[in-house]
Amino acid sequence: MDSQLHLDELLTEVKTRKPKMVLLQIPEGLKTNVVELEDTFAHEKIPCIVVLDPSFGACDIADYKAQLLGCDLIVHFGHSKMLHTGINVIYWPVEYPLEKNMIPGCVNALQKDPFFIQNKKIGVYVTIQFHRHLPEIKKEMEKSGFEVFVGMGDLKDGQILGCDVSARMDIEDKVDANLYFGDGYFHALAIAFASKKPTYQYNPFTLKMENLQKYKEKYLRQRFGLIAKAKDAKSFAVILCTKKGQLRKALAMRMKSELETAGKKAYLVSMEYVNPTALMGMNVDAYVNTSCSRIATDDFESYKKPMLTPIEVEILLGKRKGEDYIFDEIKHVGNKSVQ
Ligand code: SF4
Repeated sequence: MDSQLHLDELLTEVKTRKPKMVLLQIPEGLKTNVVELEDTFAHEKIPCIVVLDPSFGACDIADYKAQLLGCDLIVHFGHSKMLHTGINVIYWPVEYPLEKNMIPGCVNALQKDPFFIQNKKIGVYVTIQFHRHLPEIKKEMEKSGFEVFVGMGDLKDGQILGCDVSARMDIEDKVDANLYFGDGYFHALAIAFASKKPTYQYNPFTLKMENLQKYKEKYLRQRFGLIAKAKDAKSFAVILCTKKGQLRKALAMRMKSELETAGKKAYLVSMEYVNPTALMGMNVDAYVNTSCSRIATDDFESYKKPMLTPIEVEILLGKRKGEDYIFDEIKHVGNKSVQ
């Protein structure tokens, strides 16, 4: 566990903050390490409490729980800063260890791909799990003749989330294509939909490179199928999530008002964990999800009624063209200070 978490470094950082009590917020993957984590802190005589509620992102920072539990420092594992909080927080990455064939595998795949033989300017994106390795990825690609661009958005340089691909903004015009270095399609598709340039994914675990165009098309077929189903809906539940980084009340109010103007009934509902069971008893024809877009996109089959993102509601109501489909992005402050 320690080699992945760099616990010695973390404890040094925690001690400099001199906390009275620490709240540890951990991702699902670390649940089996709760006992060792508490033991490690106890050994250093630092009182701590571990939050066992799911922690999907830094959008869900447990600052109000820390206040309730009398903790004056949060260690939030696995994600980087995206929000301002009234309480002291250490964001501690949980990294994927870099295996020695991962970066050579990427360079090799690029060199063999007919598109990249012709197009050498590449914007590279990672999630926080690979962020520490980004300089090495860039260096090795450049050694093989590629021109690598790493953008700076609202998060760390080159870092993206499913709900935030702002790192593309300052490099979009300079690149021939985007390359997402990581596994899973959610993040990769976010950049593929936001950018006008072709997007490729290199999966460092399978060493496979793919153009995401066919996944984009499959995804669009699913989403437009749901939009078509929601066309006849007369009533909508507009969902507001009370997780700090997912709460978008102004957007939910706009959705309600636009649906009502279009002659639909719209009801505002709030919940902390958006899930099918909580919505089951509600007698409406469709849902609008203003929280994490992953809920509407990855989990849509769990819901009995169509669950649309705000972007899809705009398409449904004729306020946005189908060809302008994008992922629903959430604006973050990251490491910037708010005036
Ligand atoms: S809103 Fe969703 S995609 Fe964005 S950080 Fe939170 S869990 Fe991740």
